[in-house]
Amino acid sequence: MRIILLGAPGAGKGTVAKLLSAVDGSVQISTGDILRSAVNQGSDLGKKAKKYMDQGDLVPDSLIMEIMEVRLKEDDCRNGFILDGFPRTIPQAEELANLLDKMDIKLDFVANLEVPRDVILDRLTTRRTCSNPECQEIFNIKSNPPAAGGKCTKCGSPVVQRDDETEEAIINRLEIYNQKTAPLIGFYERSGLLENFISLSSQETVEEIERKLEP
Ligand code: AMP
Repeated sequence: MRIILLGAPGAGKGTVAKLLSAVDGSVQISTGDILRSAVNQGSDLGKKAKKYMDQGDLVPDSLIMEIMEVRLKEDDCRNGFILDGFPRTIPQAEELANLLDKMDIKLDFVANLEVPRDVILDRLTTRRTCSNPECQEIFNIKSNPPAAGGKCTKCGSPVVQRDDETEEAIINRLEIYNQKTAPLIGFYERSGLLENFISLSSQETVEEIERKLEP
């Protein structure tokens, strides 16, 4: 499959992407995960991105496009990809459309995950993430807690609250989503690529997406 997952922070894009990737081996590409790994490694990219990320601001389009141009040309993308957290602005979406045209790749559709704001706020403040950059498994202190002692159930590393998941940063991220990312809904509607999903259960959303993908 070749799809874009669109939705506010906390809409469940990461969880849905992981489940979809298990369906047919399409690779999950999360710009947030790529950037967090770069920050943890202390690379040039990480140093440039950290100050934006900690505030909940968007990293500049030019940096994101540099990453994605390279990433989409890697071999593992040939069998399909699920874009999670990219594009996040109209310029990113326009550049992505040009890039995919050049690569002769057609998207199946753009899945817009719709979740009420109070559900999103609750999910984000109770979300915890594995601190191991290679793992980044997501937990929720209410519905999917980590193992005893706050350890990751997959790799055993400490599970932490992300710097951008403080209440202040979350409010900023939602505001930025409304200003910069929500306009992509209209953009993809006009291109005839948009499919809306009321996404309260990730598993059900995955099943609906699978049904839409069927020929
Ligand atoms: P996420 O895990 O997708 O919520 O991303 C975490 C943070 O990484 C965001 O709050 C942004 O600072 C940055 N980020 C991730 N993807 C993008 C993108 N496509 N454009 C700009 N910034 C991004």
